[in-house]
Amino acid sequence: MRKIGVLTSGGDAPGMNPGVRAVVRTAIYRGLEVVGIRRGYAGLLDGDLKPMQLESVGDIIQRGGTFLYTARCLEFLTEEGQRQGYERLQKEGIDGLIVFGGDGSFRGAQKLHQLGIRTIGVPSTIDNDIGACDANIGFDTAVQTAIEAIDKIRDTATSHERTYVVEVMGRSAGHIALAAGLAGGAESVLIPEVPYKLEDVVAKLKRGVARGKKHSIIVVAEGAGQGGEIGRYIEQHTGFDTRVTVLGHVQRGGAPSAADRVLASRLGAHAVDLCLQGISGHMAATVNHELTSVPFDEVFASHRQPSLPVYQLADILST
Ligand code: ADP
Repeated sequence: MRKIGVLTSGGDAPGMNPGVRAVVRTAIYRGLEVVGIRRGYAGLLDGDLKPMQLESVGDIIQRGGTFLYTARCLEFLTEEGQRQGYERLQKEGIDGLIVFGGDGSFRGAQKLHQLGIRTIGVPSTIDNDIGACDANIGFDTAVQTAIEAIDKIRDTATSHERTYVVEVMGRSAGHIALAAGLAGGAESVLIPEVPYKLEDVVAKLKRGVARGKKHSIIVVAEGAGQGGEIGRYIEQHTGFDTRVTVLGHVQRGGAPSAADRVLASRLGAHAVDLCLQGISGHMAATVNHELTSVPFDEVFASHRQPSLPVYQLADILST
């Protein structure tokens, strides 16, 4: 192997930059040429490629987002698009590809692997729903952002004796909501993986107020319901002054946390080494903190579920 490509695809995640930095610097250290492919698979098809040097990835370890840009590319969903991507890589002499992204990006990477390109995925999504590994790059930072917001909301909730519904991201996964809800001391955490009844949420709120609670925070994952609707229901059924905050895309930005920088650096470097070992169609991962790799098929079959004991703990601690 002589030359590898690296791209970031799908939703951006804080930590992609330190991850790409690790790929570029490890590859050069191992004597490889590296090409950065901008805007994910869209840039691959357009030929938006840039040779990377050691200094190309200077001063990005602390930056959120992805300096390679990211995109969603409908054309790459077609066999014709995938073949074009394969041909572009062949033409450029790129024989290994490292893809930072989520489940969708890995499905695209799997297609290139099947066409004969040595391909390794690096799990990068704030949703943390890619299973078969300890954690996904970006999740730790996103939870930290959510907690900082919840702490601030708590200040005003206390001052005004209000109930707040805070809607957090996660698409169909409740990982951010559960971690932020537990760490932020929320009264209730609503996630798509565990059925809930709003009557129960209301009953718990009323018990809290009867006991003297001055404020309450309900954290809801975007996949479990709309914050606005839940807020209206709670206000109508309790009479409590209730406000709603939708955190939205602030959770995708910001400097990557130390944990995300370490994870991204380890996985990016490991992805290069896996490529050099001839492994393809795998995700670079840590399992029990040890570096390993997992075939994409196993990754697709193992959607991560939130821990039920942690969910129950959040409930017990907020009684
Ligand atoms: P994420 O990687 O964050 O889950 P998406 O699901 O939007 O994000 O996927 C990112 C991109 O990966 C898509 O825009 C598309 O180009 C490519 N992709 C997604 N699913 C497939 C698939 N089944 N086959 C080939 N490419 C795919």
